[in-house]
Parts: sequence; C-alpha cells; structure tokens
Amino acid sequence: MLSKLLSKTDCALCKYCCEFDKDDAWEFPLFNETEVKELRFLFPDVGFESLENGYYSVILSSEPLMVCPFLSREKGCLLPEELKPFDCKIWPLRVMRKEKTAVLVLEPYCKIINRYSIEELRQFAIESGITERAKEYALNESPKLKEYREEFEIVIRLTSQ
Ligand code: SF4
Ligand code: SF4
Repeated sequence: MLSKLLSKTDCALCKYCCEFDKDDAWEFPLFNETEVKELRFLFPDVGFESLENGYYSVILSSEPLMVCPFLSREKGCLLPEELKPFDCKIWPLRVMRKEKTAVLVLEPYCKIINRYSIEELRQFAIESGITERAKEYALNESPKLKEYREEFEIVIRLTSQ
C-alpha cells in the first residue's frame, strides 16, 4: 500500500523488518481466531499462543534475533493478502491505541519513509485511502492494536474514542 513511497528494492536492500529482538517482540502482530485456523492449516509448524483478549500471538523462537515464521529469505512474506496483518501492509506506518482513540503513527527507524515530512505522509495516507482503511481496522479489530509509545510520531488521529 506504500509502494509509491517505498519500493520492494528499498526493503530488499535494507532487510531491517520482520526480525524481532527481545525489546521489540511486543510489535509482532496479533491474529483473530478465524485467521489462526487458516494459518494453522497453511503453516502447521508455526505455534500460536492464545491471549486473554481472545486473540493469538505467534510463538517466536528463543533466538536473540527472532525471525517472523512467515518470512522467506528468498520470497519475502509468505502470507496471502487476506491473512497478512494490516500493520504489515501499511508498515512503516501502523495503527496504535492512544488512550481511548486510535492513531495512525510512523515507525521511527525506517530511513526511507522518514525522508518524508509528517504532513506529506498525512496527505498520502488520506489520498491513498489508507486513513479510511486504518479507521475501519481500528474499529473492527481493536484488540489487535498495540498501546501507543512516545517514539512513534502521530500522522493522523483515526477515531475520536
Ligand atoms: S526499515 Fe523501511 S526500508 Fe527497511 S525493510 Fe523496513 S520498511 Fe523496508
Ligand atoms: S507477517 Fe509477513 S510482513 Fe509481517 S512480519 Fe511476518 S513476514 Fe514480515
């Protein structure tokens, strides 16, 4: 969804994303029950852990650098479009919960996307339809939202409460 701002080549050269260390494992996206049923069928070797909110997290390896189990070094993300987490589709933007509202934020570590100003990203998010889709996602899948952290810059507020 961000291909106008960020090319596949940029990401292939950078390779920063889709790997997590203990400090950023919290960022790993959650899945709902229907998605987990399909994922278990497609990826029988991947383990899932049920959370208190009824959603599921992937069980990551205990290696210092935990690679997403859906990542192929050769092919990139193996998930079909309908199962790919929304935050992965719009990364390095993401949707977070800030108090009772949902906000579209910018991940601070991507050098490519951070070449754009927040105003340019806000315009792009509105014109490309990301804002509308992000709002729908925040309303329908609110248990998947992670709590806002100060290091993420707010691009636009999505919901009023
Ligand atoms: S940090 Fe940015 S350029 Fe690098 S892989 Fe992630 S999204 Fe792509
Ligand atoms: S689901 Fe796909 S895009 Fe998201 S972290 Fe895993 S490999 Fe990367």
